Amino acid sequence: MNATNNFPVSIEFFPPKTPEGVEKLRAVRQQLYTLKPDFCSVTFGAGGSTQEGTFSTVSAILAEGTPAASHLSCIGATRTRVREQLATLKAMGVRRLVALRGDLPSGFGTGGEFHYASDLVAFIRAETGDDFQIEVAAYPEMHPQAKSPEADLQAFASKVQAGANSAITQYFFNPDAYFRFVQEVDALGVQVPVVPGIMPISSSSQLMRFSDACGAEIPRWIRLRLQSFGDDAASIKAFGLDVVTDLCDQLRAGGAPGLHFYSMNQSAAVLEICKRLAI
Ligand code: FAD
Repeated sequence: MNATNNFPVSIEFFPPKTPEGVEKLRAVRQQLYTLKPDFCSVTFGAGGSTQEGTFSTVSAILAEGTPAASHLSCIGATRTRVREQLATLKAMGVRRLVALRGDLPSGFGTGGEFHYASDLVAFIRAETGDDFQIEVAAYPEMHPQAKSPEADLQAFASKVQAGANSAITQYFFNPDAYFRFVQEVDALGVQVPVVPGIMPISSSSQLMRFSDACGAEIPRWIRLRLQSFGDDAASIKAFGLDVVTDLCDQLRAGGAPGLHFYSMNQSAAVLEICKRLAI
């Protein structure tokens, strides 16, 4: 294992729904700041459903002296609304965005004035020039709605051509998918850092549910091992730490520019993985 303790990490949170959740997340952040993350990001519910919680969590992170990125999703949004959101974020001192299409819950249709994340990236650049560093999503195992891997790669390239500076991937457990994606992006002449998104494994059922929804593959051997542990939370946790640390180690050794952790508002697994990686 390489002992490169300044390897860049970023950490993602979701906005808590209750005052207790806000306090708990505050404590979790303090623990995770010991990793000196490059930035912490906060997700944004599609249709603006979490805007208040997202922006107040981003504000709290900035006030704690850590660079913060707000996610911003465009599905169902109007240009006027996004213009207002950008002005609010700029006034808050936010300098980094994760620009997304988002997914509306079924039954909402699509509506809105943006179709794809590339439309949002182009709009942000047209409205605010270089005020924001723009991250976009990347899918080493293909976005579930893409017509083909080639079409998805082109969709990724169009987000960069529209002005994105860097990308964070959907989580995955197969490093080859990531390395191939990076090679293909490179072959298209698209030159932005593609940071792997890392999902710690702490609950078997939660992981299965998320992965079904977002199209991330859980390799058969991991699925079978997790199933074999049943309700034995300690074994799931120990296995998950081994698997995810090994994945991170392979990604770092293979040239990944950093790691972006989906913390799920928990600190223990991220801290332990980074400890094992000597980050
Ligand atoms: P897009 O890049 O627009 O792609 C969506 C689909 O459209 C893909 O299948 C793509 O191939 C296709 N496509 C794109 N352009 C075209 C085109 N011109 N013609 C035809 N097809 C096209 N969701 C949230 O709601 N809130 C969040 O905070 C959030 N954070 C995320 C963070 C990360 C790092 C990642 C990886 C995902 C996140 N998501 C979030 C989930 C994301 O919103 C969904 O995956 C969503 O389905 C796609 O968003 P996107 O920005 O990748 O969309």
